Amino acid sequence: MSKGKAIRMDEKELEKAREYIKSLRNPNCKEDDVFFQAMEEVLLSIAPLYLSDPKYQANAIVQRLVVPDRIFKFKVEWLDRNNKIQVNTGYRVQFNNALGPYKGGLRFHPTVNEGVLKFLGFEQILKNALTGLPIGGAKGGSDFDPKGKTDFEVMSFCSAFMRELHKYIGPRIDVPAGDIGVGAREIGYLFGEYKKITSAYEGVLTGKPFFFGGSLMRPEATGYGVVYFTEKMLEIENKEPLKEKVCTVSGSGNVALHAIEKLYQLGALPVTCSDSKGTVYDPRGVDLELLKELKFVKRVSLQEYSKKHPEAKYIPVSDYPKGGHAAWHIPCYAAFPCATQNELTETDAKALVKNGCVSVTEGANMPSTPEAIHYFQKSGICFGPAKAANAGGVAVSALEMSQNAQMMRWSFEKVDAELKTIMEHICTNVAQTAEEYGVKGNYVDGANIAGFKRVADAMIAEGI
Ligand code: GLU
Repeated sequence: MSKGKAIRMDEKELEKAREYIKSLRNPNCKEDDVFFQAMEEVLLSIAPLYLSDPKYQANAIVQRLVVPDRIFKFKVEWLDRNNKIQVNTGYRVQFNNALGPYKGGLRFHPTVNEGVLKFLGFEQILKNALTGLPIGGAKGGSDFDPKGKTDFEVMSFCSAFMRELHKYIGPRIDVPAGDIGVGAREIGYLFGEYKKITSAYEGVLTGKPFFFGGSLMRPEATGYGVVYFTEKMLEIENKEPLKEKVCTVSGSGNVALHAIEKLYQLGALPVTCSDSKGTVYDPRGVDLELLKELKFVKRVSLQEYSKKHPEAKYIPVSDYPKGGHAAWHIPCYAAFPCATQNELTETDAKALVKNGCVSVTEGANMPSTPEAIHYFQKSGICFGPAKAANAGGVAVSALEMSQNAQMMRWSFEKVDAELKTIMEHICTNVAQTAEEYGVKGNYVDGANIAGFKRVADAMIAEGI
């Protein structure tokens, strides 16, 4: 196709696309809302590619891509600290393995249901494709809430979860990892149970602690990757780098924490972090050591932050701006939503733009609502979508798979250098793809088109 010429859907085609998306949908199933939100964004933005090459329609790629290969749903029975039996639901959505073994995290959170995991699995296909590594897309998890549970309870749950999950996974079949509520501790218990059942010591999970087969830098990878991506995006868009700039971050999990760490390393000033109860605004910069202690050692609420730093502001959720999140109403140069889906609304987007924000990069999966993204794009600020910007985590997971397969361990520096190269390559590829398809500067379309193309071409080559 001709360079720089946008092929846009006309009104009739747009209507047809919307009708098609609607036809897939069971209107009574509210659970599927986020899945359709993710799917609609992708399908509408791949139009320039889809319409320019008849092979995609001839091979029914869209119809095939939006349906998961299979979904496992299972009962998880476990014993709590009082020896009482508890029951949760577990899932694994194996979405697409055109490019490699199914790959994607496990989320343990009360909001988990089939729809949420379909959305995350669908995003994961394109994200994993963008890394350029041989990994397909999957996601899994449970409505189990690790918050407030003892180590014993988490272990009991993880063992029970793996007693069912082990049937469906394997180092060449499907390799789960962490996500919200699943970190090194949970991966350790899951790995231990897999090993007991199968007797196999193999790279069936990534995100393992280093001392028994994990990759150095895997904990840091997503957060560092988000910042590497942002630096490259700012360079491509001729904007000033992050050094000495005020940054706002949401979340206080693995992604947020390491984004904050990398921002400090680059000489930037991250001033916020948040959890489900509130936001900390520390104008002198977030105390990273304290944050690590509160969230990873003590596992307590951020409210505790003010005990050590009474001069920092703690904003409880009840005081958030109507329809918005406190972090996005604090003036910044660059914003990093690193908590969860749909946490940054149009109200927030307007506040960010009004306060002079130049760049927004998504560390969480789909944290910005469609209206917020539209507003960012209309305002011409740099916007790095999750499936490109937060791909560093899964990319290092794939490097962990390589190390496990080779029975080797790479140094921190080697993994970090690989990660930086991968993130810069993703960013450049996305920017170039956007330009090639006539939507220069639109990283959402660039990411969707580049990811889709890689998966679709493999699906066509592999046949049905
Ligand atoms: N859960 C992470 C993600 O959303 C990492 C997945 C993995 O390492 O497999 O990409």
